[in-house]
Amino acid sequence: MFFSIYTLGCKVNQIESEAIAAAFRDAGFTALPWGAPLDGTNAPILVINTCTVTSKAEQKARRLIRNALRLPCAALIVSGCYAELDVHNIAELATEEPDLAPLFVLGGGGKDTLLDLPGFLAAKVKDAPLTTLVSQWLNRTLVSDTSKPPPPTLVSGTNDAAFRFNMADFSFHSRASLKIQDGCDHRCSYCRVCLARGKSVSIEPQKALTSLRLLEEKGYAEATLTGINIGQYRSCGFDLGALIAYLLAETQAIRLRLSSLEPDSLSEGFIKALASPRIRPHFHLSVQSGSPIILQRMARPYQVQAIKHGIALLRSVKTDPFLACDIITGFPGETDMAFEETWSLCRRVGFAWIHAFPYSPRPGTMAYSFTGHVSERTAGARVERLLTLAREGRRAYTSRWLGKTVEAIVETHEDPRMASAVSENYLKLRIPRNTETPLKPGTLIHCRLSGQPESESKDNTNFDALAQAL
Ligand code: SF4
Repeated sequence: MFFSIYTLGCKVNQIESEAIAAAFRDAGFTALPWGAPLDGTNAPILVINTCTVTSKAEQKARRLIRNALRLPCAALIVSGCYAELDVHNIAELATEEPDLAPLFVLGGGGKDTLLDLPGFLAAKVKDAPLTTLVSQWLNRTLVSDTSKPPPPTLVSGTNDAAFRFNMADFSFHSRASLKIQDGCDHRCSYCRVCLARGKSVSIEPQKALTSLRLLEEKGYAEATLTGINIGQYRSCGFDLGALIAYLLAETQAIRLRLSSLEPDSLSEGFIKALASPRIRPHFHLSVQSGSPIILQRMARPYQVQAIKHGIALLRSVKTDPFLACDIITGFPGETDMAFEETWSLCRRVGFAWIHAFPYSPRPGTMAYSFTGHVSERTAGARVERLLTLAREGRRAYTSRWLGKTVEAIVETHEDPRMASAVSENYLKLRIPRNTETPLKPGTLIHCRLSGQPESESKDNTNFDALAQAL
């Protein structure tokens, strides 16, 4: 039996796909790389884990679904945030022509059922074809009967369901992640994620510790604490700062990296918890704009002063941490002057990277009906200006670390002469292989930054510095 999974979107989606893949492998299924040639004999179960952050992400999902529907697979299962919000639109793709593959769209918080599906299929495979079994499991009729709305899906979106994805077997990533929070209580005017994932829920501290200890026992040197808005972590009287202190106190050596942080969560108390050397000096802030008016129109829960204050606090607790941010350009009402406020803030802060992307109008959000439309061309030009700043910032940041020694985790890299690694402060490194220091993926090493590549890479997928393993 075979399966293949394609994941779009954020770290939370990535970790959920890792868990679904692990469930299939544990049930005896063989993983096929997405797009591997298929013939009738190995008809796999295909899973697409979708994202709804931008219309581009949804368009990509629709393209993937259309292509997959024309493949000889036993079943195509579509889950994720786009499926949560648009079951019907997706279901209709299977009616575009006859004899397409059977499509199952998993909305309404049912993603965690995919953790149990492989076991069910493996147990019943002698009784019926996989397609029938998938249908039985998902308790619904094949999607070709789109006249009837799909039955309400199975699961609850409860705490337990949201955190069943934590496991200790990563097949697509060398560094581990631990999901500690899901959903969001904010309602930013442009966001559909909060609509797809619902209210904020948090894992209990003890359960987070159990999962982290498992990762440490499995030899993972680092784990990223992940969620949709981890700053909203609340459980058993613990907030995020308290959870971090507890996890560090109750484990030996595993390092912790944090996924995106909202500026409103950068309180003095929280910052104190970051002082530990086991907390990676790398912070990604969801800033979105540097213009007071645009932050207000976005209904962001903070203002420019909070961004500056939070950054000063982060720089007070770590030596020259790698600071990155998200910025949306072309939000309705973003004048040239408003954009200049954003650009100047980014330049003054000196971010080591800026993840800039154009505003994407999302149906069902408040901003969808806002006036003050900004053309794609203008929004795109503003993204380019920020990326130029980002490249300069990254190069300047890396040059400050040349000659210095850092910790790094070796990543999978085919090149027999060079290994790749990610440093504690999130620099992408290339390290010449030598016989003395084995550079196995996942290994924690110490290395000294020795040089930068000649030219700036057009995007940040290339590498930041050469390093020597010590
Ligand atoms: S903080 Fe805002 S943008 Fe982020 S998930 Fe919550 S509502 Fe969406």
